[in-house]
Amino acid sequence: MKVHHLNCATMCPFNEAFTTRGGAWTARGRMVCHCLLIETPRGLTLVDTGLGLGDLAAPKQRIGRAMLALGAPSLDPHECAVRQVEALGYRADDVRDIVLTHLDFDHAGGIGDFPAARIHVHAKEFDAAMARASVGERERYQPAHWAHGPTWVKHREGGDTWKGFDAVQPLSEALPDVAMLPLHGHTRGHAAVAVRADDGWLLHAGDAYFWHDEISTSPWCPRGLAWFQSAVAIDDGARRRNQQRLAALAASASDVTLFCAHDANEYDRLRARSRGC
Ligand SMILES: [Zn+2]
Repeated sequence: MKVHHLNCATMCPFNEAFTTRGGAWTARGRMVCHCLLIETPRGLTLVDTGLGLGDLAAPKQRIGRAMLALGAPSLDPHECAVRQVEALGYRADDVRDIVLTHLDFDHAGGIGDFPAARIHVHAKEFDAAMARASVGERERYQPAHWAHGPTWVKHREGGDTWKGFDAVQPLSEALPDVAMLPLHGHTRGHAAVAVRADDGWLLHAGDAYFWHDEISTSPWCPRGLAWFQSAVAIDDGARRRNQQRLAALAASASDVTLFCAHDANEYDRLRARSRGC
């Protein structure tokens, strides 16, 4: 399957020193919303959506003042997934399935731009987003994103294993090469998404980590990103344990390319690789 790497929202958090290695105190950082567009025999599949056109039209209502200040998204409509799909020569309705690592606004913001798509999400994540049981969950989950009434496909823990990860659930019989791996911690139903591409496996780890060195043999993370991840995790112990599992996978599986949602270094490298640069 051919896979496109898309950045569906650039964020410029304050400041570079807190969010990169060796950054300046006076500059803003650069983060991305790394999404995948997969060409499958049954149409297009998106993994995560970044921000949508509706978010750009009403950012205070749909993103929130706190996250606008902290993340400083660029709010460029050309970055929205639907505009990038169209730029590739497709229509929004060609996107038949959207697989979400979780339902935070910066991952699910664009689902309303694809009204024909089925929305795949872990069942625990769906329940958490509908319940919005805590103050943090009322901030992170924005019901406006699913106000159009999408068709949900809720995935429970599957019986398959993949590269040492258990409870893996292939998306469907029609999409056997896309699978959901439970990696709870950042949210109650956070998951990674494995995709068998033409040149090996891709593992979109969502927000299971934020900086590439976190899953290296010498784990390290910029202070601001380390603080943010702990502050917003629903279960920080589970999040840390899952990071260790990903680090072990990165060290052992040469046929798997791992990346997270927000690391611009990983995105730039994989975007260039997919374009043959
Ligand atoms: Zn995120």
